Amino acid sequence: MITATTITKPDLRNFCRAQLSDFLARIAIPTSYHRRIFNLIHRPQLNDLATLTDLKRTVRETLVDQAQISFLQPEKAELSKDGTVKLAFRLADNSLIESVLIPEQDRHTLCVSSQVGCAMGCKFCLTGAMGYQRNLTPAEIINQVLATITYMIQQGVRRATTREFINNLVFMGMGEPLANYDNLLTALNILMDEQGLEFTERRITVSTCGITPKIGALGRDAKVNLAVSLHSADDQTRSQLMPVNRTYPLDQLLAACRDFPLGKKKVILIEYILLQGINDSDHDARLLAKKLSNLPCRINLLPYNESELLPFRCPELQRINAFQKILRDLGYITIVRDSRGADISAACGQLAGKTTRCQPRTTTKTDHY
Ligand code: SF4
Repeated sequence: MITATTITKPDLRNFCRAQLSDFLARIAIPTSYHRRIFNLIHRPQLNDLATLTDLKRTVRETLVDQAQISFLQPEKAELSKDGTVKLAFRLADNSLIESVLIPEQDRHTLCVSSQVGCAMGCKFCLTGAMGYQRNLTPAEIINQVLATITYMIQQGVRRATTREFINNLVFMGMGEPLANYDNLLTALNILMDEQGLEFTERRITVSTCGITPKIGALGRDAKVNLAVSLHSADDQTRSQLMPVNRTYPLDQLLAACRDFPLGKKKVILIEYILLQGINDSDHDARLLAKKLSNLPCRINLLPYNESELLPFRCPELQRINAFQKILRDLGYITIVRDSRGADISAACGQLAGKTTRCQPRTTTKTDHY
């Protein structure tokens, strides 16, 4: 489900290999070239089909005449004191999206966006406060990866092959990936293609706020890691924090997680943002443990990244540790995750684009989210 942008000729980066092959056949490019062309167009630093001088001249000219490739360049790169880099990309329709590059020793994780804004309206999230603007096309998803690798090369990072630049790719940026399902799937196909970007299933994680029917579909259609933003084990609290819970309540969501096909030694990642006085009590921790019983999972506790635009607060360290201890004592692998890039608004829930005008949310004691 690619939506039209200002592009007139077909953008080859919107096609998985089978779709590209169909298109190339239609413009009379011999089959013997299809695989090679798919490989060439997913190389970083390529932004013009006319520069594909490896191809026979007639083939190249047909491509240039009938098609194009889109590409992204960071409009802004912000460097956090912890080494995290937030890259802002201007799209063809002038929308702004962000990706976050997180270095860890000699590894790099890239967090990509799947939509401009988000319709899910989670109350603690600045992207949610933007509202939904549109889905990203497969090319706009892929191009975040290619543009980031290009940026890394320009910064002096050297690797033997393209696949070694980014070790892990997480769909945890702007937007709800499962609400842009068809384009996500095409992008995953390209990312995981051996002639594309060669990501293995272990290296890609798709995160959802809980669009239950699509979790089942993802389990059937793609072999990737699944992360679920839970943030409360109590339906009433979760519905207030995350409107999606009114449509797909916890028991339905966790049933879909239990049915999600997991490879050997794989688990579902449970994300839980700790919000002071809302979901951080001992009772909340025990309830979480109870709800997650029989689910192979790992729990990531995320101390909330405070924003003056939203009314939530981060619990004290002592409370965070107590919450973690309860879960650990009950047998759950539970990690308190570092907040990376918070000083440049690149941490979880902080991506909103510089053009966004988020209005501060006011709160009362009885209606604090
Ligand atoms: S937390 Fe994720 S799903 Fe919820 S509003 Fe933010 S971007 Fe959307």
